Parts: sequence; structure tokens; C-alpha cells
Amino acid sequence: MDGKADLHLHTSFSDGALSPRELIDRARQAGLSTIAITDHDHTGALDEAYGLGTLAGIEVIPGVELSASVGEQDVHILGYFFDHRDPGLQEHLALFRQERLKRAERIVEKLNGLRIPLSLASVLDQAGSGAVGRPHIANALVDEGLTGTYHEAFLKYIGFGKPAYEKKYLVTPREAIALISRAGGLSFLAHPAHAVDEKLLLELIAAGIDGIEVIHPSHSPERIAHYTGIVTEYFLLSSGGSDFHGGKRNDREALGRYFVSTHTVEMMRRRLQS
Ligand code: AMP
Ligand code: FE
Ligand code: FE
Ligand code: ZN
Repeated sequence: MDGKADLHLHTSFSDGALSPRELIDRARQAGLSTIAITDHDHTGALDEAYGLGTLAGIEVIPGVELSASVGEQDVHILGYFFDHRDPGLQEHLALFRQERLKRAERIVEKLNGLRIPLSLASVLDQAGSGAVGRPHIANALVDEGLTGTYHEAFLKYIGFGKPAYEKKYLVTPREAIALISRAGGLSFLAHPAHAVDEKLLLELIAAGIDGIEVIHPSHSPERIAHYTGIVTEYFLLSSGGSDFHGGKRNDREALGRYFVSTHTVEMMRRRLQS
């Protein structure tokens, strides 16, 4: 019988709240049989996760979530099944993380310019050794009592187009796809309903994307049907998952609710072998 696979999960190696151990524990409780940990610009969870997964009876497949830019738009690309020890890939991930740190500094400066006395230290405290992102800044703003809620931080300050917004170092989708492919992996367009219109979707298919994340909490049944049609029409693979960040942002119920069948994972493996 096919099992449940959640192929979009975050840990404390990026903006998730849980350690790999805690996440795998929760995944087991949620009845998942396969997971992909897809931290932003970081694969640090993987080594530990493989061993823990084996002990918990959960298959862990390598994953990562990269950010690419198309003009002003930010497009997320999920990579699976790559060799996470690939030096070219790791060199780029290290660069992306370095640029994230510089961007966090620029955002803090902008906030300070807006008379919001957030310190970089409190942001880095949130991020720990993980890839620093805007969610850490939002959490720091809330914890320091400078903003009411996580979402308010994005709405008022750090969301796209807001006064403390800053772009990070970004590559094009074609470059992100090439990075994953050179490391032997498959690339998927993450949560297309966020920012991707039809024209861009077709451009990404032309750029060589292997598949689309069809199942995601932000997708309505109509969107899911739509992307399923596109996957079929263009002979693409599908993917899906909860984008679970550890229960801090109203995603407590997401684990075990948004998943694909393990057959979907089998299709990915077959594509890699063909
Ligand atoms: P970053 O990669 O640092 O740009 O942070 C992007 C992450 O911030 C996304 O993966 C979301 O989890 C979160 N995010 C982005 N925009 C918003 C928003 N408007 N409201 C809440 N969370 C957001
Ligand atoms: Fe995230
Ligand atoms: Fe994303
Ligand atoms: Zn994500």
C-alpha cells in the first residue's frame, strides 16, 4: 500500500522551529512514511535526519528550497534527490547564506532608520546556526515587543514593497535548476499559487523544471486541479507537502494533512533513472 509523503518541511537549520529530531518525531506521530527536509539554502539537517529517520521507520530524501528571482518577483525552487555533498552546490548554498546575513543587516538598518530599535543580535539569536531569513526578523520584532504579531511584521515592515524590505542575493530560476541538476537532483516549482502567473509557469517549464509542487496549504482544490492538468500536459512530475515550519505560525495541524502518495516519490526515482 502506498504511504504518505510530505516533501516540504523546514527545521531549525532555516526558519523552522523544530530540530531534525523533533521534526522526525512529529512526522512519525502524523503517520508519514517518507519526508523531504527542504530548508532554505541549507542541507545541514540531512546527515542527522537520515539516521534518525531509519530509527523511526521514516524514509528521508534529500531536499532544499532555493530562492530565485524573476524581475522583482521571488520564485521558490525545491530540489530533491541531489548529492548534498556536491561541492559546487555547497559553495553556492554558503554564498546564499552569507548574502542572507548581509540582507538581515540591511533590514535591521532600515528598521532602525524607521526608529524601530531592533538589534541584529536579537535576529541572530532567533536564527541560531541556521540560514537567517525574514521569519527570524519577524519573530525578533515580536519577542522584543516592537510589533504585535508575526504577520504584522511582514505587513508593516519587511514584506515585499514595505519600508524595510530588502532583496537577498538571488539567482535566476534557470541557474537554480542548473545547480540542483549538476548535483544530480530534480527541481520543482514550489507553491506556484504564491506569485507565479501562467506566463512565468510556461517559462519555467521551458527552463527545464522537472515538476510542480501541486499540493500545498496555499492551494485551493481548483488550483490543485489546474496544476495537475499542467503536470499531465507537459509530462512533468508532481510534488507536495505541508511547508511545515514547526507549529509557530498557525501550521500546527498541517503535518499529515498535506501530503502526496509514496508513488509520487517512486515516479521521481524513475525519472532520475531514465
Ligand atoms: P526570506 O527567504 O528570508 O525572504 O523569507 C521568506 C519566508 O518568509 C517565506 O518562506 C515565508 O515563510 C515568510 N513570508 C514571506 N512573506 C510573508 C508574509 N507576507 N507574511 C508572512 N510570512 C511571509
Ligand atoms: Fe520558510
Ligand atoms: Fe517557499
Ligand atoms: Zn518552504
